[in-house]
Amino acid sequence: RAGFVSFVGRPNVGKSTLTNALVGQKVAITSSKPQTTRRAIRGIVHRSNGQVIVVDTPGVHRPRTLLGERLNDLVQSTLGDVDVIGFCVPANEPIGPGDRFINDTLDQYPRAKKVAIVTKIDRAGKEKVAEQLLAVSRLREWDAIIPTSGTEGLQLEDLLDEVVSLL
Ligand code: GDP
Ligand code: MG
Repeated sequence: RAGFVSFVGRPNVGKSTLTNALVGQKVAITSSKPQTTRRAIRGIVHRSNGQVIVVDTPGVHRPRTLLGERLNDLVQSTLGDVDVIGFCVPANEPIGPGDRFINDTLDQYPRAKKVAIVTKIDRAGKEKVAEQLLAVSRLREWDAIIPTSGTEGLQLEDLLDEVVSLL
């Protein structure tokens, strides 16, 4: 099995950190210039049962003001091609309009498997994490919901296993 995964979510939810943690080296660019991140392959993770190719989404580094009407156009070229979309929300912030907007855009990719990733679980207590998992579960019918911490390296194996199993 081999396939593409792309992480989407508001700025600062931990997408680049997660990418770096998964591919095991600092490859994701944290620049605010959208051109630098357009359709870039960030790394390939080799697993015993498959390979996961992590692709950056154009638009995810853009200022919040551009997330409105233009996000669809910006992400479509990449998300239309990936096998798994990882929708990231941090454990330590309530789900808001920005998250809901991005979640709604995922309807445009019926072919892609969709995994909700609750990031930064090291920043929230167990109860808070559980609450966030429940809250995110209400957004749509996900193929999987995984709590992670990119900085602490928590449950990255589970995330990879889940992604490979969905390819
Ligand atoms: P992006 O904009 O979604 O790519 O977010 P980044 O990966 O650049 O992370 C934004 C900020 O959150 C940075 O200061 C990261 O160090 C921090 N961060 C990311 N992941 C985690 C995590 O799992 N735990 C904690 N405590 N901080 C994190
Ligand atoms: Mg980033």
